[in-house]
Amino acid sequence: MADNTSIRVAVRVRPLLENEISKGSKEVVEVVDANKQVVIRSVDRDAAYTFDHVFNSKTEETHVYKSSVKSLVENLFKGFNVTILAYGQTGSGKTHTMGTTYNGDGPMGIIPQAIVDIFNFVKDNFSYDFNITASFTELYQEVLYDLLSDKPRDQCTLDIREDSSKAIYIPNITEIEVNCVREVFEILEKGTSRRATSATAMNAQSSRSHAIFTLNLSMTHKEDCMMNKQGKLHLVDLAGSERPKKTLASGNTFKEGVNINRGLLALGNVISFLGDEKTQNAFVSYRDSNLTRLLKDSLGGNSITLMIACISPADYNLDETLSTLRYADRAKKI
Ligand code: ADP
Ligand code: MG
Repeated sequence: MADNTSIRVAVRVRPLLENEISKGSKEVVEVVDANKQVVIRSVDRDAAYTFDHVFNSKTEETHVYKSSVKSLVENLFKGFNVTILAYGQTGSGKTHTMGTTYNGDGPMGIIPQAIVDIFNFVKDNFSYDFNITASFTELYQEVLYDLLSDKPRDQCTLDIREDSSKAIYIPNITEIEVNCVREVFEILEKGTSRRATSATAMNAQSSRSHAIFTLNLSMTHKEDCMMNKQGKLHLVDLAGSERPKKTLASGNTFKEGVNINRGLLALGNVISFLGDEKTQNAFVSYRDSNLTRLLKDSLGGNSITLMIACISPADYNLDETLSTLRYADRAKKI
């Protein structure tokens, strides 16, 4: 794939977990680095899929970041909008990959590594003045919540709008100016803990919502305002991609399932449209879900998207793993 394509797809396989090993789960996924392939080996089906990046269960966080994300973050400073999406069933490693540890103990995922990189770039650049702001939202049942607001949850719902220049904006969102790595980590921690609390209060799991962490970069050239630039980085921990379980598929839970699928379904459609040169300029239906409405100015146009599909290697997850690989395969440029 050429370097200037706007959609890239990576697949990351997590290791078998302790409890899976002790209950005798077998690995059915193999990564062939040389061919950038993920191979599924099972009794009744053998299938191979090729991606832009493949990461096996031993791949370290720094390698994931350096090989697939770092160059995209650098493009932010050229004025691109960049979106990193973690897709996969609950328990496949999305949150592990995006990164929840910000205090230095434990491996740092993509988000903290990106933040460190961004501030290093800012420190080393003398031509521009930078203004960086952070926001953090959660999309649950098609409703967007502000995770950085101190108001009660039912009072921090947000609308998604598009301005006359087709830029997406969110009126009244809490947007915090950040001047160093530490300030961003504090915001991440605050938002993450608010997300967990609200999930408990609603008796729901955070795996049913999309978490969207956003950094806005405004770059003002010190001598030539014609060279001013804007960049927006979305880091998205998507809702679990699993089908709602039959036993749960009633009442409220069923609605949750339907709405989650609406976002992931619309996202899959938009991304596969954008990846296909033949349909690139055709009508792409962003309006089908709030997830795609929110990401509209960061998926098409002057933007680069990386989808990291996370999968489990275990035999009992085979169906969901295949469904994730098919979704990721469809997102690739044709
Ligand atoms: P998800 O966010 O997709 O539901 P998690 O990120 O919470 O999944 O991962 C599920 C479990 O697997 C966690 O215990 C996590 O620590 C572990 N895990 C996921 N990916 C890896 C990895 N690459 N290496 C080691 N452990 C992992
Ligand atoms: Mg998670």
